[in-house]
Amino acid sequence: AQTGRPVRVAIVGSGPAGFYAAYRLLGKREDAVVDMYEKLPVPFGLARYGVAPDHPEVKNCEDKFTEVATSSRFNFVGNIDLGNDLPLSALKPHYDAILFAYGAAKDKELGIPGEQALKNVHSARAFVGWYNGLPEHRDLDPDLTSGEDAVIVGQGNVALDVARILLSDVDALRKTDIADYALEKLATSRIKRVRVVGRRGPLQAAFTIKEVREMLQLPGVSFDPIPKDVFPPDDVVSALPRAQKRLMQLLAKGSANDPQQASRSWSLDFLLAPDSLCWAPEYPYRLSHAKFSRNELDPSDPHSPSSKVFPKYLSSGKRAQVNLPTSVFFRSVGYKSLPLPGLDDLGIDFDIRRGIIPNDGFGRVTSLSGKGAPEELPDGSLISTLPGLYCAGWVKRGPTGVIASTMTDAFTTADTLAQDLANRVDSQSLLHAPEQGSGLGWDGVKAEAERRGLRPTSWQDWLRIDAAEKERGQQKGKPRSKLGRVEEMLEVLD
Ligand code: FAD
Repeated sequence: AQTGRPVRVAIVGSGPAGFYAAYRLLGKREDAVVDMYEKLPVPFGLARYGVAPDHPEVKNCEDKFTEVATSSRFNFVGNIDLGNDLPLSALKPHYDAILFAYGAAKDKELGIPGEQALKNVHSARAFVGWYNGLPEHRDLDPDLTSGEDAVIVGQGNVALDVARILLSDVDALRKTDIADYALEKLATSRIKRVRVVGRRGPLQAAFTIKEVREMLQLPGVSFDPIPKDVFPPDDVVSALPRAQKRLMQLLAKGSANDPQQASRSWSLDFLLAPDSLCWAPEYPYRLSHAKFSRNELDPSDPHSPSSKVFPKYLSSGKRAQVNLPTSVFFRSVGYKSLPLPGLDDLGIDFDIRRGIIPNDGFGRVTSLSGKGAPEELPDGSLISTLPGLYCAGWVKRGPTGVIASTMTDAFTTADTLAQDLANRVDSQSLLHAPEQGSGLGWDGVKAEAERRGLRPTSWQDWLRIDAAEKERGQQKGKPRSKLGRVEEMLEVLD
C-alpha cells in the first residue's frame, strides 16, 4: 500500500551492499526516497578501498552505483560517521526504515606474542587500505627495505592480493589507481620472497582459482613447488567438485616461471600455526622471524574443507616448530564488523561473537532478547524482528563473499523491505505507523548535523573530488590519483 508522502529510507554505508540495496528499492517502489549516509566524503566502500588496483574490471560496479545516484530520489550524505559524529537516534524520527550496510571496520587478530609490540607487523586490512589510499591508513608507512622476506598469515584472496602487490613489477602498478605514496614506497622495496602461510592444508584454503593463477603467472616471480605429501591422494582429488579439483591441479602444477630467471619468489606454506613474532637481540623490537608450530589434519576427516587440525608432536614429545625469517609480517585472517555506537538505542543487540547485526536472513534485524515483533521463519521457528530496521552486506552475513554475492544479499534485503512496505498498513512493520514520523529524511536531520559543525558532502561534491582525482591521475598516466586525506578531499570543495 502506498501512502501519501514519500517513504524515507536511510542507508548507512555506501559500499556495494548499500548501493545495490538502493538500486533495488528505488526500482521496486516509486515512492521511496533513499538518503545514503557514508563515513568518508567519498562513496563505494571496499570497491574503492579494498579491491586491488590491478583489478580495475572489478570496480566497474561503480558505474552502476553512479547511475543509481543520478536518481532524483537518491541523496548521498558523505563525511558523516554515524554513531560517532551524529547519533543514530537522530535519524529515527525522520525515516520510515533504516538499512545498515556499514561493512567491517576492523580485522581479526592472531592474539600471539609480538603482534602488538613489534614494528612492521600489520594487518592485511591496513596494508590494503594503505595502497588503496584509504585515509585511515595513509600514514602506515610499512618498512619494505630492512629485509628481503615477508610472511603473510592467512590463505584467502586478500592474502594473495597483498602478496601480489608486494611482488608485482612496480611499472605494471604505475598504470593503476594505486596510491602515489604506495607506489613510491614499493619502488624502493627490497622484498624478494613472500610466504603465504596457512594453519590447514590446500583443501581447506580459502583462495580461489583466478587469484592463484594470477600469482603463478606473475612475470619475474617463481613459485616454490608444494611438497607432494601435503596434497590429498589422487583418488581424493579426482572425486572433488570441479572447481576444487582444478585448484588442486593448478597448485600441484605450480608456475612455469624459471626460478633461475626470477628475481622474486613466493610459496604457500601449509599446516603451520603462528606461535609468536620475535626479534633478534641486536635489534630490539625489530621483527626478525615468525615462530610456527606444525599442524596435522584430523586423521578421521583430512579431506573435508572443514577438517580440523591438531598440533604435530615429535617423538621427543615436543611440538614440531618452524622459524620463518621475516622483516615484515601481515595477518590476513579475516575482517570483523563492530557495533556502531548507539545501535542499542534502537533496540539492536549486536552479535559480538558472530560479528553481525542479528537478522532473519532476509534482512530484517532481529532481537536476541525478544524485543520487537514475532516472525515465523520458513522452518516454523519464531523470532523477534525489530520493525523498520534492516541490514545487508558484510554486516549482515559476516565479512565473506565477493561483490556479486553482496549484490544478491542486498537485493534480498531490499525485496524484504519493499514487501514490508507493501504490508505496512496491516503490520505496521516500519519504524513508525503510517503517516507518522516526520517523513523529512535528511531535511530533518540536517539541522542537527549543522549544530554539530559537520561538513556533509553531497553527490555533486563527490563528482568534483572524482574529477580532481582523475585530472591528477591524467598527469601521471594513471586512471586517477586518489586524495589520501579527508582534508585534501574537502580542500577541493573550498
Ligand atoms: P563495504 O564495501 O565495506 O562498505 C561499507 C561502507 O560503510 C564503507 O564505505 C564504510 O566507509 C561505510 N561506513 C562504515 N561505518 C560507517 C558509519 N559509522 N557511518 C557511515 N558509513 C559507514 N570482491 C570482488 O568481487 N572482487 C574482488 O576483487 C574483491 N577484492 C577484495 C579485496 C579486499 C581486500 C576485500 C576486503 C574485499 C574484496 N572483495 C572483492 C569483496 C567486496 O569488497 C565485498 O564483498 C563488498 O565490498 C562488501 O560490501 P559492503 O557494502 O557490505 O561493505
